[in-house]
Amino acid sequence: MTIWTLGSVNADLVFRVPHLPAPGETLAATDFSRGLGGKGANMSVAATRAGSRVEHIGAVGEDGGWMKDRLAGYGVSVTHLAEMRGPSGQAVIELDDEGENRIIILPGTNRRIDIMGFDEILSEAEEGDWALFQNETNGLLDFAQAAKARGLPLAHAAAPFDAEAVAPLLELLDLLVMNQVEAEQLQTATGLAPEALPVRDVVITLGAKGARWIGADGDRSFEAPKVRPVDTTGAGDTFTGYLVAGLEQGLAMAEAIELAQRAAAVMVTRMGTADVIPKRDEL
Ligand code: ATP
Repeated sequence: MTIWTLGSVNADLVFRVPHLPAPGETLAATDFSRGLGGKGANMSVAATRAGSRVEHIGAVGEDGGWMKDRLAGYGVSVTHLAEMRGPSGQAVIELDDEGENRIIILPGTNRRIDIMGFDEILSEAEEGDWALFQNETNGLLDFAQAAKARGLPLAHAAAPFDAEAVAPLLELLDLLVMNQVEAEQLQTATGLAPEALPVRDVVITLGAKGARWIGADGDRSFEAPKVRPVDTTGAGDTFTGYLVAGLEQGLAMAEAIELAQRAAAVMVTRMGTADVIPKRDEL
C-alpha cells in the first residue's frame, strides 16, 4: 500500500554566523551545510523510514536534481516529482551561536504544482492507500478533491497556517494534524473549537507536553517521551509522517500516535531535517 504525499521540497541552506548581520553589514559565515528539507519532503522521508511505501508528488527546479536524487536514495518514489524551469524551493537559514535564527523561504517550484493533474496521478492509487499534504504547495483543494474522488483517506497538516487555505479543506479531511498555535489560529478564524471541527480525527501536538487526539470516542492525551532536545526543527513533520504511516500500516490511532511520538522525540535530539529523521529500528 502507498502514501501519496503532495508536498514541498526545499534546499535548507544553513549559514552559521557569529551574530545575525545588521542591515548593510557583510559577515563571513563560519560554517555551511546544505540539507534536504521542506515539510512535504520531511513527511515523505518520515513515512518511508516508518516502513511505508511513499509516492511524493511535487516539483523541483533546474537546481533541484540533487534533491530528487536524495529523496529517491532514501527510498521515496519520485516518479511524480516534476522538474521545472526556475528555482526550487529554498530556505536560507542564518544561525548564530546563541541558537537565534533568521530564515528566508523562497517557495519556488513548490508553488507551481497546481499545473499537474492530480486525478490522473491518483488513478494509480489502490484501496488502503492514504493521501497526505500540508500547506507549502499550491493545488491543495484540487488534490483533496482528487483524493476523495478516489476514495482515499486524507490527512492534512495545517502548517504553515493559513486560514483561507485550510477552511475549504475541512469537510474533505479524515485527519487534521496541528500544533497548539495552529489549533488556536484555526479556532479564531472559524469560531470552531477542535471538538467542533467537521473532521473525524483531530490531533494536536503540544511539543514536549505530547499530543492530544480528538476523535469519535472523545478526547485523549498522550505524554511525550522525556528527552533532551537540541533542535526541534522537523519534529512536527516527523510526527505527521510517522502517524500516517502507522495508520496506513493498520495501527489503531492511539498506537500510531505513540509511534509518532517516539520518532519525534528522537528527532528533537538531532540537528537537521529530512536527512536525520530516525528509522523505525532506531526508536
Ligand atoms: P516543529 O515546527 O518544531 O517541527 P511543531 O510545532 O509542528 O514542531 P510540536 O508540537 O512542537 O510541533 O512537536 C511535535 C511533536 O514532537 C510533539 O507532539 C512531540 O511528540 C514531539 N516533541 C516536540 N518537542 C519535544 C520535546 N522537547 N520532547 C519530546 N518530544 C517532543
